[in-house]
Amino acid sequence: MARFEPPPEATPLETTSAWTFWAFVTLSAIACTVALHDGAYWPSPMPVVSIVALALLVAIVSPFGTFQTVEGLAEYASLAMPIGFAMLLVLGWRDFTIAIALGELCNFVSERSRKKNPTMWYIRTYNVCMQIVAGAFAETVLRMVRPIAHASPGGVWLSFAPALTLVLAALIWKLCDNVATTVLITLAAGRPLTSARVSVRVFFSQFALFLIAIPFARLWSDNIWVSLFALAPLGVAYRLLGLPELEYRATTDERTGLTNAGAFDRIVRAAVASAESGEKSLVLLAIDIDHFKSVNDTFGHLAGDGVIARFAAILTEIARREDVAARTGGEEFALLMRDADRTAALAFAERLRARVETETFDLGSFDAPITVTASIGVAIYPEDGATPLALFAAADAALYRAKMSGRNAVRAAERIVA
Ligand code: GH3
Ligand code: MG
Ligand code: MG
Repeated sequence: MARFEPPPEATPLETTSAWTFWAFVTLSAIACTVALHDGAYWPSPMPVVSIVALALLVAIVSPFGTFQTVEGLAEYASLAMPIGFAMLLVLGWRDFTIAIALGELCNFVSERSRKKNPTMWYIRTYNVCMQIVAGAFAETVLRMVRPIAHASPGGVWLSFAPALTLVLAALIWKLCDNVATTVLITLAAGRPLTSARVSVRVFFSQFALFLIAIPFARLWSDNIWVSLFALAPLGVAYRLLGLPELEYRATTDERTGLTNAGAFDRIVRAAVASAESGEKSLVLLAIDIDHFKSVNDTFGHLAGDGVIARFAAILTEIARREDVAARTGGEEFALLMRDADRTAALAFAERLRARVETETFDLGSFDAPITVTASIGVAIYPEDGATPLALFAAADAALYRAKMSGRNAVRAAERIVA
């Protein structure tokens, strides 16, 4: 059940902190496995058949899923996720842990037969252990609340309270799983833990899907075949899960991961509109790599592509979290800074220019490291341009003046005095 796959172009778990967290999850899973004893919400008719069937089901639906982007890092949301929770509801604790492990094993075999790039062993271990730990939390909730829920006074509450218990258990599982996975992804990428964010939208879209486990498990305990119909909405969910990915692709420049020109245009329009009402200032930076044609001519197009990607990474690295960095053209970039004044914007632009100037773009396959410089135009809303179009024009004009002054320079927009 591939909950976490390596982000593209990154080796996961290359940091000690990520490995430490991995070890923590593994040990916790072992402790949970030992500590909890049997008890299932809706006991399955035949545990052995159920274990094997559920594990196979995991392997069948696992390939269907989608990468969701969490803070620019990829997390794989698979349709197999709810089946893990269903396992907890129909199997006793020990059988649940066996089924989770067996599910991952079936997944492994299925990946091999599809000749798919195999998931790394430590990711598999993490997937198994994380589900056991999340399951232990959910199981604890079920055991604590279930007696109270079943003892609650009659009427509609008689059936509502146990249902609420199930939703609570599902919520605890998902929270535990998403938080831990985000922590691991963040640590693996070498980012500070304080930068970890769980997207509320991604969380609730996954959680809604996750709840399918409840009717599915209920039917499973009655008739395994009928329960399969409860899985039908998963097909629809698969399409819906793809929407964030489509949205991501539509607004992101593929080569650099930055916002693309069209999306940036919309973001600037929206920012100007909201700055207008709040009387706030905005800063737009137009950035262009100098003499880029000669980089291509000297080192080849591929090296040029590498420089563009690295340049984008530098821009992202030194920009603040609330700034929006975009690739607006081939070797042209832009940055939208909210709540920044002229002094801060010019200081940032100068820092970027100096950083690019000293950076050696070491692309591995070339003997001589490549160096480039950049020219930057800075325009402030509303002083230099009171509409999005005027703001873009002012930043462009400032960039042009930076180029004319000999390149590798920062220029602020010139106020047009009427
Ligand atoms: P200037 O200092 O005036 O900006 O000179 P320049 O050479 O950077 O500007 P010009 O606009 O004349 O040329 C830009 C070059 O960037 C031409 C084009 O081949 C190259 N380019 C644009 N997009 C890409 C890309 O995605 N990859 C590579 N390798 N080159 C690109
Ligand atoms: Mg250029
Ligand atoms: Mg250009």
